[in-house]
Amino acid sequence: MKKVIVVGGGAAGMMAAATARERGAEVTLLEKNKRLGKKMLITGKGRCNITNAGSIDDIIKNIPGNGRFLYSSLNRFSNRDVIDFFHRLGVETKVERGARVFPQSNRAMDVVEALKNYLEKIGVRTKYETKVEEIHITEGKLAGVIAHGGKTFSGESVVIATGGASYPATGSTGDGYIIAQKAGHRITPLKPSLVPLETLEPWVKELQGLSLKNVKVEATAGEKVLGYEFGEMLFTHFGISGPVILSLSKPIADYFETSGHGTVQVHIDLKPALTIEQLDLRIQRDFQKYSRKYLSNAFFDLLPKSLIPVFVNILPVPKEKFVHQITREERNKIVKLLKNFTLTITKTRPIAEAIVTAGGVCLKEINPKTMESKIVPGLYFAGEVLDIDGFTGGYNLQAAFSTGYTAGFSAAE
Ligand SMILES: Cc1cc2nc3c(=O)[nH]c(=O)nc-3n(C[C@H](O)[C@H](O)[C@H](O)COP(=O)(O)OP(=O)(O)OC[C@H]3O[C@@H](n4cnc5c(N)ncnc54)[C@H](O)[C@@H]3O)c2cc1C
Repeated sequence: MKKVIVVGGGAAGMMAAATARERGAEVTLLEKNKRLGKKMLITGKGRCNITNAGSIDDIIKNIPGNGRFLYSSLNRFSNRDVIDFFHRLGVETKVERGARVFPQSNRAMDVVEALKNYLEKIGVRTKYETKVEEIHITEGKLAGVIAHGGKTFSGESVVIATGGASYPATGSTGDGYIIAQKAGHRITPLKPSLVPLETLEPWVKELQGLSLKNVKVEATAGEKVLGYEFGEMLFTHFGISGPVILSLSKPIADYFETSGHGTVQVHIDLKPALTIEQLDLRIQRDFQKYSRKYLSNAFFDLLPKSLIPVFVNILPVPKEKFVHQITREERNKIVKLLKNFTLTITKTRPIAEAIVTAGGVCLKEINPKTMESKIVPGLYFAGEVLDIDGFTGGYNLQAAFSTGYTAGFSAAE
């Protein structure tokens, strides 16, 4: 019976361990935390968006960080297979907006528990509080791993599934990169992906906690459009976050990297469903209603309450004016600001605050059909430790499950 060691009990490691065991290997799963799947528990705001129900091509398109590398593993273990796998484990699923797949119960805990119970049931040996530090080579051959304190775990195949360097409190502290480097692998420089953004404007603090739904946000660098998104965003004490901002953060981070930190602006269209003319008519109606009020009291029907003082402060129109005194030219300025509420981005937040780590174990040194290292035979990599990163929508967990399955399958051969 082949002995397989899996390092890291996250999405990729648990899938690798289950698959290798199903293929008849003797499997030991080593996890440095006291429990499995700590990061999975916080995914999808505690609901765990396990995959996406789109086509394989869609999934690859939504993994801008080397999605094409996943072609083989996604075909070997697709989103359909992930859903079937969880159904077999008793986790019913549902599909939501954007083809996002969640457990019917809305509880990430149910997904993690089902995986953990399944591993126990099929006889995977799990060792907790075991931090692996390097692979163990004897007589030029892979022989297992060495954990903190020097304890050796022997195995003919080793799967490294230690995750990225984001949200380190979950256990993903980037150990896998060090293990891979010591084994002779190159690491593509790490970058935050899906990360909040810091802004120059100090007044964002006043908007902390405000979420804007159904807005259009466009990111530009000079004349160049870096990307745009529709949906929800959030103000924080340092800047902006939320789904559309996280999605835009990748082209922004790439731009900062290639331009040596040029200037990036985000333009928020607060009323994307209305044309300039429609919005002007809408404002004229509101201004009739509020004609005897100060300008600062004329936006209650148009903007969230907490945004009004900031909006009025930025407006190049005297706020002590009465609404009936507002000229057509001033009204145009109001329309302009509603359609183009601009913030200047100074930097991304650090990797630790990113949903996903871009960069990682260099894919040129990994066989995409098996996830085996081209440098150390018998060594496999799976999940976020690889130089792969996707958008939100279930794509990152799908990548972890597909690569985990492929690595576990091949490691057991
Ligand atoms: C807030 C948040 C929400 C997210 N939501 C979603 C979502 O809804 N859908 C989605 O698709 N993706 C989501 N993601 C991304 C997704 O969680 C990750 O891409 C995915 O968990 C990666 O799986 P992994 O198994 O490679 O790594 P991880 O899940 O990070 O697991 C790695 C494991 O390895 C262990 N480990 C690390 N080093 C060692 C070591 N030296 N020895 C032993 N064990 C070690 C860690 O403790 C950890 O348990 C989210 C991420 C975050 C931060």
